[in-house]
Amino acid sequence: MMWSYANGHVTMISWDSDPLHFALLHFVLIFWQTIHFYFIHRAIHWKPIYQNVHYLHHKNINIGPWTDLAMHPAEHLIYFSTVLLYWVVPSHPIHVMFSLQVAALMSGVGHIGFNEIVVKGKIAFPSDYFHYLHHRHFECNYGNTLFPADRWLGIFHDGSPEAQEKMVERIRAKRAANKELTED
Ligand SMILES: [Zn+2]
Ligand SMILES: [Zn+2]
Repeated sequence: MMWSYANGHVTMISWDSDPLHFALLHFVLIFWQTIHFYFIHRAIHWKPIYQNVHYLHHKNINIGPWTDLAMHPAEHLIYFSTVLLYWVVPSHPIHVMFSLQVAALMSGVGHIGFNEIVVKGKIAFPSDYFHYLHHRHFECNYGNTLFPADRWLGIFHDGSPEAQEKMVERIRAKRAANKELTED
């Protein structure tokens, strides 16, 4: 990305030239990263990619902070491709650095393994319980709370027995459909 900026392959802005764009992009990129994560995560659950790449990250069923970037190098490339946005949207190198830091560090928070960290009786650090359930059950909660596509698609699991039952039914129906297809 730095090479691309230096050689004029991507459009660079600065605080002086576009202060509003510069500031707003910091907020937009958070939403962009969640949407990007949702779609790449769905894509890497496609069987051929899952079996060769994403399976490694899913070896962590009981997760901890080091689970975040414990993934196949190919998944790193896919995961950090979030910065490709800046090939289309004019930006500054600081946006790229911020995006990469958010992707690398916030993922650790998403896998911290505790429900929440409480300091002096107050929640100091909420966790991503939502994603823990993805590691436990695999076929639910592909995204995160900022982009609730799982709710829209009916594959959200909130940890309740009802959600568990719904997911089991869905998996059974999928397996039955696959079985029918192979028998045909
Ligand atoms: Zn996954
Ligand atoms: Zn994960």
